[in-house]
Order: sequence, then C-alpha cells, then structure tokens
Amino acid sequence: MHIKAVICKNAELKVEELPEVEPAKGQAVLDVLRCGICGSDLHVRHHCEHMGNMYSSLGYKNFASVDEPLVFGHEFCGEVLDYGPSTKGKFKPGTRVCALPLRRQGKDVDMIGFSSRSHGAYAERIVADESMMVRVPNGLSADMAALTEPMAVGWHAVRRAEVRKKDVSIVIGCGPVGLAVICMLKASGVQIVVAADFSAGRRKMAEQCGADVVINPAEESPYSNWEGHGFIDSLAVFLDKVVDIQETFAKLPIPWWHTWRLAEKLGFSPNRPVIFECVGVPGLVNQIMSSAPLGSRIVVAGLCMETDSIEPVIGIFKEIDIRFVMGYTPLEYRDTLHMIAEGKVNCAPMITGVVGLEGVDNAFTVLGDPEKHAKILIDPKSTHVEPVSA
Ligand SMILES: [Zn+2]
Repeated sequence: MHIKAVICKNAELKVEELPEVEPAKGQAVLDVLRCGICGSDLHVRHHCEHMGNMYSSLGYKNFASVDEPLVFGHEFCGEVLDYGPSTKGKFKPGTRVCALPLRRQGKDVDMIGFSSRSHGAYAERIVADESMMVRVPNGLSADMAALTEPMAVGWHAVRRAEVRKKDVSIVIGCGPVGLAVICMLKASGVQIVVAADFSAGRRKMAEQCGADVVINPAEESPYSNWEGHGFIDSLAVFLDKVVDIQETFAKLPIPWWHTWRLAEKLGFSPNRPVIFECVGVPGLVNQIMSSAPLGSRIVVAGLCMETDSIEPVIGIFKEIDIRFVMGYTPLEYRDTLHMIAEGKVNCAPMITGVVGLEGVDNAFTVLGDPEKHAKILIDPKSTHVEPVSA
C-alpha cells in the first residue's frame, strides 16, 4: 500500500507515492479531509536553507533541508482511521478531528510539515499524536475546521496584544495573518477594527471578515483619523497636555501630587491604539513607529525574514510598546476550533478555493495574486487543478 502526497524537493512540487503511514506509539492515522496552504509553505519552498538556519540558531535542529523530500501541511482536519500501540483510542474511527502540528519523534519533537521525518497533510493520510488531537464539534465542515490552525495564530496575537474592547485596533496588511487577526478581534468584541491593504481584493475580504473601516494606504493613511479617537500624535501636543494638566492641578486647593496620584489610580491615561503588523517586510515596523501616536502598542505578527532596522529614538520619545508574537498554545488552538464551530468567527470569506493534490503546484502560483486568493485548501480526494469554491 502507498499513499499519494505532494513532495517538495529542491523547490519543486510533485505528486508522488510514499509508503503507507505507520502509526508509532501514541499515534493515530488520519484520513486527510482538508489541509490549508500556508504562506510559510510558500516561503519554505524557496528559502528552506535560510529557515533551517534560523531555526537552528533558535535551538531547533530538525528543520528539513532543501534536498530532502518534504511534505508540507500543518493546517489540517482529518478523520480518525486507526491507532498505533499505547493509545487510548478515545475518538472512534470516523471521528472528525484537528491536531496541533507537533509530533513526538523519540526524544525530539518535530514540526509536522517542516521536517522530512514528519510529513504533513499535503497527503492522503497522516499520523498525528493522539494527545494533540481535538474533536471537531457541532458537525463543523472540514473546510472550516481546517482554518483552526491559522485562526489560532490570530487568536494568540489578539490575546498577546491584551486589546480592550474599546481600544481602536489597526491591522496593517490583510493577507491570511491579517484576516485571521481581524476575525479574532471582532470575535472578541473589539468595537473598532481598522484594516489597511493596497489590494482591493484583500480589502474586500477584510470587510467580509468584519473590519469596520477599510483603508487603501495609497489614498489615505491608516493613521489619519487618529485625533478623532483622542490619540496624541505629536510630542508638542503631549508636552502641552502635560503642562495643561499640571497647571489645572496646581490651581486646586489640595497639593497637586495627590490629585495626580488619584488620577493614576483611577486609570486616567491617554488613549492609544493597538496596531497589528501583518505584512512582514523590512521597514514596516519603523514606518508604523514613525506614524503611530504616542504610547501605541505594536504587535508584530508578520513574518519578516530579513534583517530590519528601526529608529530607537522615535520609539523612546513615543514610548512605543512592541510585542512579537508566534504560534499559539494548545488551549488557544482548542478554543479557536470551538469558537469557529459556535459561529463566532467570521472566517469563511478567507477560503478562496479548494484543489486536489495535483493542483497544489498551481495553487502556489495563483496564491501570488492577492486580488483573488487568501487561503486555498487541499482536498486530497479532489482532482481539481484550478481552485474551485469550497
Ligand atoms: Zn501556517
């Protein structure tokens, strides 16, 4: 017995046969129903070596190398077929599940879809650790369930950002990461979500995913209406405000520092937006820092793979708060799946097509056009080479 899979080797994608999957201790075999094509798959196809070096410097040595056959696919939903030894079998065969893309491999842990030892779900079948599996609730479709992984990335970014419902959130870049952030911001009740992208297609998707204000940065700055939200956008205004407050407090009959301390205790502080950088190109963080109001929080979710530079003095004078985000916890993954299944996450507009294994190479090409595509899913049982609607 063999399985069909899309193999990436020396940056080429080909459908080939692999030996049938064999579940090891603690593992289950899944029949792959859907698997999302991720931007990182597109990147790794051509920059495997660079990614491997990055991971290696972080202490992760099992990243695939360019001449090893690699099967991508870490955003998957499948049906339980069988179990290996030392498993509990808690989900009966036929149960629809998602699984976190991590797999025990002896003493190591492999990232499924980025290690040549642990092939991903661009394949008919895959093995997953039983402990990583989550049942798909509410009869949720495989298409929507396959969005769990990328949406969990958005959910983690929103949680790490500690956004309050009244905070204005600005999402720069409406690719899959930006769209996931928009969906999860709205799912968590944030009232004003501003989205910016140069592509009209992407702006339309941002609107469909729930963005309240959608901006074309070629025509209008995503930061232009900030005075309307009470943000402080220049150092001169800030200094004026400080002296203003101090003068007002000094006129009061009690010592000004008591009033100041009380105001702090009551939580009076200038409004500031939370800005999500979801593009990942050099220069963007600095550009946001330069245009952002004082005290802004910038959450960096775009995966910039090049060396970048910033002007620290801008960040210092504005007291910009920068947070980098990566991945999600198992709890965030599980909660994301449940939020999607409960209809709280408006992520369906992100799915722009479904292809079979034979259509993956073409899908990688068409994903280069932001006007048309955001997330293409693979259905290993389909024969479609051109993406069809889900
Ligand atoms: Zn991904």
